Amino acid sequence: MKVISSPKALQNTLSKLRRNKTIGFVPTMGYLHAGHLELVRQARKHCDVVVVSIFVNPLQFGPKEDFSKYPRDEKRDLKLLEKAGVDFVFLPEPADLYPKDFQTEVKIKSVSQGLCGESRPGHFAGVATVVLKLFNLVQPHQAYFGEKDYQQLVVIQTMVRDLNVPVKIVGVPIVRDLDGLALSSRNVYLSEEGRRLAVSIPRGLGTLRDVFQKQARLHTGKAKLVFIKSLPKHPEVRLDYVACVHRQTLLPLKQLKKDQTLVAVAVYVGKTRLIDNILL
Ligand code: AMP
Repeated sequence: MKVISSPKALQNTLSKLRRNKTIGFVPTMGYLHAGHLELVRQARKHCDVVVVSIFVNPLQFGPKEDFSKYPRDEKRDLKLLEKAGVDFVFLPEPADLYPKDFQTEVKIKSVSQGLCGESRPGHFAGVATVVLKLFNLVQPHQAYFGEKDYQQLVVIQTMVRDLNVPVKIVGVPIVRDLDGLALSSRNVYLSEEGRRLAVSIPRGLGTLRDVFQKQARLHTGKAKLVFIKSLPKHPEVRLDYVACVHRQTLLPLKQLKKDQTLVAVAVYVGKTRLIDNILL
């Protein structure tokens, strides 16, 4: 496994390999867990060369968000990636990707609005800008994204379609802990009590699924209430949003429809904002 930090060196190395090998790419912000490693496993299974990037992208964090304290452990990450059979790790510094006079922004309109786009203004423009840069540097045949960040996956799919980026986007189902909590680098912020409270998020989504399966019609308002009521009444648990949207357009639905509906939620547990979703 080779670790590269210079964008030019990465481009030079990969351009030679690309002539006769397929390249699979997994962008991450590091502090890796089994969810990230599942994306790597898929890439390893389907591509000749696997490239993983580790970059905590300042552009996608708001001024009051956790950029400076986002968890980092490069040594451990590199060990895990080596064990997973990764060929190249791209590990740039912010200055390698963003010169002082950097002025370009990639904005995807409709699908970036609502859900996390509403709570985190500018977040998806930051994500799309860095992902397009990474795509230009790696020029992968396939790139792997987790369904945990479902809106991000749709934003990237839309960008790739709209801008004719020559890459196939592969979505990977959410990897969960034994009790159902979606794995996330941010779970490390949770206190012991917070970790116990956090399991109410997947449980609430499960309850909503059960209610949906028993009813021919379920209005969004009622569905949202099912989730809200299932959260513990505890000062540390605060709903950011629960939304029932079309799984492709991400536009709000009045009524839940089978095979079309994404239920997406964001919940604060203490100061930690956790997201999760289910497809109905
Ligand atoms: P991050 O490092 O949080 O930016 O995540 C990097 C990639 O891993 C993104 O495509 C995420 O959607 C994906 N990912 C993160 N957590 C999970 C999970 N629990 N299951 C599946 N994919 C995940």
